[in-house]
Amino acid sequence: MTVQGVKYMSDFEAKKAILDIGRRMYEKGFVASNDGNISCKVGPNTIWTTPTGVSKGFMTQDMLVKMDINGKVLMGKWRPSSEVKMHLRVYKENPDVQAVTHAHPLVATSFAIAGISLDAAVLTEAVMGLGSIPVAKYATPGTDEVPDSIAPFVNTHNGVLLANHGALTWGKDIYQAFYRLESIEYYATILMYTGNIIGRQNLLSCDQVNKLLDIRHKLGITAGGIPPCSPEETNAKDVVSAADIRPAEQSGPGPVLKGVTSIVRPGENPAPAGCGCSGTSGRLTASEGQKAIGAEALGKAKEEIIAEVVRRVIEGLS
Ligand SMILES: [Zn+2]
Repeated sequence: MTVQGVKYMSDFEAKKAILDIGRRMYEKGFVASNDGNISCKVGPNTIWTTPTGVSKGFMTQDMLVKMDINGKVLMGKWRPSSEVKMHLRVYKENPDVQAVTHAHPLVATSFAIAGISLDAAVLTEAVMGLGSIPVAKYATPGTDEVPDSIAPFVNTHNGVLLANHGALTWGKDIYQAFYRLESIEYYATILMYTGNIIGRQNLLSCDQVNKLLDIRHKLGITAGGIPPCSPEETNAKDVVSAADIRPAEQSGPGPVLKGVTSIVRPGENPAPAGCGCSGTSGRLTASEGQKAIGAEALGKAKEEIIAEVVRRVIEGLS
């Protein structure tokens, strides 16, 4: 159906898509039990949405509810989720939105609990597709506080974290809304790995971010915010892997280590005094690493690195 130049899904298409997205949401672990909700417009003032008290992975079409955007139920025997209020507010605040998804993905929700917005310029796709994702202030689920908390972001961003609760996204169709939910969880996971497990992030420079924003504009994405960027380029040099490093005393071809910090085995090359790092994860400067690391040691060092990263990932997830 097309109304005033805007194309809408049919009732059949919307219901089928909601069931499809519900299954994906459940299978990806974005929701537990009966959590989460989905809605999709079928006209300027009408939506289909998910019922309360049902797992989103096991819904059937007869469970879905048709409503107008003022909250009046038009069709369906089940009760809509009390959280549909925030969906209705999104539609009212931004008439261009055609669908809304809400879930509690593990990592994104953990950021929401910590009160940390997703706004570091570290991932090109996230800058282009999402921008920054703020944390809306805490609101009691099911109350009018929730729509009020998200309203300020609906026209300027593509999604929001709900403090101590979960994530909410919207889009020009139901798939874009869901992909943004996926992207938020992916972005949050990258931020957790780099910021809290690996412990290092090379921020994109402001110039690099500006180029990504140009691409975002050309893609027709008009909202999203701009994550903070680095004034300097920190990623403008090639990074040579430890296995490719040629010990300085050996002759023959091979890349020479420049500007790369190597991790070496504990005990073999104690960390230099005053570097502030431990023997286990001690890091040497490029020239020191070049002198110290032999081919055999490098192989063992790689195993140590992998074991250390796995240990930190397990620690981070437990
Ligand atoms: Zn929720």
